[in-house]
This record gives sequence, C-alpha cells and structure tokens, in this order.
Amino acid sequence: MNILVVDDSSYQCQLIIAMIEDSGFKAVCANGYKEALELLKENSVDLILMDIEMPDMNGFELTKIIRSTYPEWMPIIFLSANDSEVYLAKGIDAGGDDYLTKPVKQVVLAAKIRAMERISLMKSALDRVNKQLELLSCIDPLTQLLNRRGIDSMLNNLWKDNIEQKAELSLMMLDIDCFKLYNDNYGHQKGDDCLAQVSNIFNHALDQSNGVIGRYGGEEFIIALPCTPIASARFKAQEIINVLLAAKIEHQYSTVLPYVSVSIGISSTCTGAANIEALIKQADGALYQAKANKKNQYAVFNSIDTNT
Ligand code: GH3
Ligand code: MG
Ligand code: MG
Ligand code: MG
Repeated sequence: MNILVVDDSSYQCQLIIAMIEDSGFKAVCANGYKEALELLKENSVDLILMDIEMPDMNGFELTKIIRSTYPEWMPIIFLSANDSEVYLAKGIDAGGDDYLTKPVKQVVLAAKIRAMERISLMKSALDRVNKQLELLSCIDPLTQLLNRRGIDSMLNNLWKDNIEQKAELSLMMLDIDCFKLYNDNYGHQKGDDCLAQVSNIFNHALDQSNGVIGRYGGEEFIIALPCTPIASARFKAQEIINVLLAAKIEHQYSTVLPYVSVSIGISSTCTGAANIEALIKQADGALYQAKANKKNQYAVFNSIDTNT
C-alpha cells in the first residue's frame, strides 16, 4: 500500500507517517492540496489519509476533486480533530470511505489501513475478472477469432486511425462456398470442425501482415488490412484462396471443386466510402460479384475485373 497523508501541519504529518511506517506500510506526505494533486499525478497511490481543516482548500473539496479526476477508485479516510457527526456525514458525501478523529491510536489506524487494503485487493481481482470478461465477450468460441461485437469495435478503431493517418484501409469479406451443402451432407459437427480449421488457415495466412480477422457470422469472415493499398489486398486475397485450396479439405458436394473453397469481396477507402458501414457494404457487393462469377475467387468493388 502506497499511502498519501494530506495535512497542512507538518508535525501531524510526521506523527501519522511514523505510525504508518511502524505498522509496516509506506507513506508520503503532502502539505496541502497543490502538493497532494501533484503527488497523485506522478505516483500510484493506494490510500489517502485526508485532513479536513486546511488553508486554500479543505479536505472535503479536495476529495471531490480527486473523485472527479481519477476514475480509478482509491480509498480515502478522513483524519480530523473535529468529531462532529455532521462532519463525518459530510466526509462520506464528499467521497470519503471512513472518518477517524485525531488524535488517532496506532492500533486503530493500522486496522483501518488493513481493512482498506483488503477492499482494494478484492477490487483489483474484480477488475481483472471484468477485463477478462470484456475480452471474452469479443471472442467467438468456435473459431477463437473476434466475433461480431469484436469486429465492430476493431473496425471503428481502424476507421478512426485511418482518417488520422490519411492512409488506405482495405477490407475483405470472405464467404465459404457451398457450405450449406457441406453441412447438410457431412453434418453440423463436421461443419463446425471445418469452420474452425478454415479460421485457423485464414489466421495463419495473415501471420506476416498487419491484417485483423473476425468471424462476421455463420460461414462469413471479415479481414481488415490497415495501411494496405487495394493492390496488396488483391494479392493477399489470392494467397488466402490458394492456401485454403492447398489444405484440400474434402467437400464432395461443392459445385465448385471437391474441396472447401472461399469467395472474397474487397473494398478500400480509395473508392470514397463515407464510413465503415459503407466500406463493409462495398466489400459485400464485391463478394456477391465473386459468387456470381462461379465462386472460388475474389472480386473488387466497382470493378468487373476478377482474377479468373
Ligand atoms: P454460397 O456458396 O453461395 O455461399 O452458399 P452457402 O451454402 O455457403 O451459403 P448459405 O448462406 O446458403 O448457407 C450457409 C450455411 O452455413 C448455412 C448453415 O448450414 C451453415 N452455417 C452457418 N453457421 C454455421 C455454424 O456455426 N456451424 C455450422 N456447422 N454451419 C453453419
Ligand atoms: Mg489541518
Ligand atoms: Mg454466407
Ligand atoms: Mg457461403
């Protein structure tokens, strides 16, 4: 626990710090609001012991400022010579977590610090779990790729970055060919296995690039290629088509080949999409074109030019 003691009296500060250190904790002192805010800016503080009566700004006001400045919760305990219940209530309302009256006994102070430490540790554990849940809520369990929610957030971020960098963002929409026939003939479980295998192949195909992939839904995937001109996106699309074919995943019922294949639609910010939704729509339009052109190929938005 890094403890910050805020008190305008340096004698009081020394006294409290001596007690804290004697109880096995570390503490620093701030002689007023300015020093306190500076120390908070530069150090990670786990607990604040706050005096109330101070010139320039009292402890209630300072607490309110700290609460509105720092979204991360840290315990604040008031330490005041004033033992009025009105002050205690005011302290809690200002954002404090406890209220002790001076002079404080070392055994009481140390116990309160331990109690706050316990709450802090529980909160850290909860924050960690929440972070993990947040991550999990963006992952598709079957393919371990970003799910629709993850894709939406990733694409929105890439779109913003792209505007800032004034670069070219390319997008691919991928759709497995004749997958209904795969599912209907080999069964849903094999269909799931196939999707997981295909996802793995796509993911590896992006290993040496800055591309990000997600499962858009069903047997459809999206790949975003930041800072990538459309010519490179075409190249990447063909590579993906080739590596999937090279894997020779049997599909006797496909109308294209006896193997699982993919069709890809490509769009890029060079064709003037106004927002990310428009860019997705363009890639989807190009995908439709690739499907209409007998599948197992890519098509580029606004172009009749495909690779076969
Ligand atoms: P196209 O070549 O035109 O893309 O035809 P398609 O059969 O691939 O496309 P369609 O949209 O008609 O069918 C997609 C099928 O994908 C429907 C369903 O059987 C299968 N599918 C979608 N999601 C899943 C999934 O999570 N698991 C499995 N096993 N199958 C899925
Ligand atoms: Mg004071
Ligand atoms: Mg589909
Ligand atoms: Mg399909």
